[in-house]
Amino acid sequence: MKIVTELPFKKSLRNSLRSNDHGPFVTVKGVKYPVMRLRSFAIHGCTCCRCGAAGNKIIAYIPGDGIVHVDLFGGKHGRLLMTKDHIIPRSKGGRNHWMNYQTMCSRCNAKKADQETTEDWKLSDFRERWNAIHVKFQNRFHRIASQRRFYTKSILWFRDRYLHRFTYIVARIFS
Ligand SMILES: [Zn+2]
Repeated sequence: MKIVTELPFKKSLRNSLRSNDHGPFVTVKGVKYPVMRLRSFAIHGCTCCRCGAAGNKIIAYIPGDGIVHVDLFGGKHGRLLMTKDHIIPRSKGGRNHWMNYQTMCSRCNAKKADQETTEDWKLSDFRERWNAIHVKFQNRFHRIASQRRFYTKSILWFRDRYLHRFTYIVARIFS
């Protein structure tokens, strides 16, 4: 594995990844790196939900296929790959959606394979219920905003910054 560079994991990057207004790239010294893979970590945190290993390094590297990958690493030596785990595995109908992701290190993820627990189902149910409330709230917000011709840039900014952040904070507290 050839390491290209270590990317800064700044608060601003985290916030913009959460609110979805970040482009898919971040530029370091004039070179663009793809960062959308990191979005799940910005939402769900960087700590493995099973063993507690903390991801603390974003590394751009070139594995065997010759394409630059950007991933989060952690653990004692900073070489433990952090992954986004599908709470309900894809093979059992789990969605490719941030509501179905949680942070897990590659070691625990390999152990879990496609064997979800009852805790996983509880968490998934909770998140789906919460997401339904969130979507309803967001639709109402859109309707009010458009009726009153309030639909300005600053309202969109508010929606992206706070509505989404509030949602995932609540989802994390209860999950
Ligand atoms: Zn782990």
